[in-house]
Amino acid sequence: MRLFKKRAYIPIQQAGEKAEGTVPSVPDGMFQKCPNCQRAVYSKDLGEEKICPNCSYAFRISAQERLRIIMDDGSFEEWDEDVVSVDPLEFPGYDKKIVQAQIKSGLREAVLTGKGTIEGQAVAFGIMDSHFIMGSMGHAVGEKIARLFERSTEERLPVILFTASGGARMQEGIISLMQMAKTSAAIANHSKEGLLYITVLTDPTTGGVTASFAMQGDIILSEPNALVGFAGRRVIEQTIKESLPENFQRAEMVLENGFIDKIVPRNELRGMLSKLIALHV
Ligand SMILES: [Zn+2]
Repeated sequence: MRLFKKRAYIPIQQAGEKAEGTVPSVPDGMFQKCPNCQRAVYSKDLGEEKICPNCSYAFRISAQERLRIIMDDGSFEEWDEDVVSVDPLEFPGYDKKIVQAQIKSGLREAVLTGKGTIEGQAVAFGIMDSHFIMGSMGHAVGEKIARLFERSTEERLPVILFTASGGARMQEGIISLMQMAKTSAAIANHSKEGLLYITVLTDPTTGGVTASFAMQGDIILSEPNALVGFAGRRVIEQTIKESLPENFQRAEMVLENGFIDKIVPRNELRGMLSKLIALHV
């Protein structure tokens, strides 16, 4: 019987002792947690389109990444890059927040606009980026979108707009809300000329953006599982004093209620957009 045989215990590390060589280190960015299925995903497995291999959730991507997966290589020409936010209400800390967002996102504002080609077909388009103050719409975003439609009307181009926004930019108060009317007027003029406007709702599309240009597309597409709504879940629950279903404001439910024409997985978007443009030329 060797019941009492001594085992080789691994010594407990003393507090303060360096653990070099014993603790495996994971380089930053090697893994990412999927916000939908909560599983750790090896970054390389997400691919260029950033789709979770476990649950197919499409990760939030930057405007530059979106550009790469949708447009023909080297075809993009940026418009109105000099339109940037100022601080009209002298809101405390807003000027710093803009600079931080510019550094973090590599963009000058929460929307990137311009023209390019998709499978050789000319289009104008705007891409919102949720990494820039939650893609909120201030006067610079509104101005860039209005100009996008004005120039597309002159050049007779279809417009594709990828929306991603937490809504109006609070730091600009009423000025941000006025952008809803301004962008809507420019879209109406584009539409009167018989030109095509497609919106692609991405996660999240909410607030004043939903209440204006996101829902004014001739064709409204959405990425799967995107949050699409006006007021947030908590605000509604507190107002109506009822709890809401789990899939409330998810693209799939919004589609069922008739606000979206089609949900298109990210890896099929470029092909779908190309087909729609070809049909409407
Ligand atoms: Zn997942």
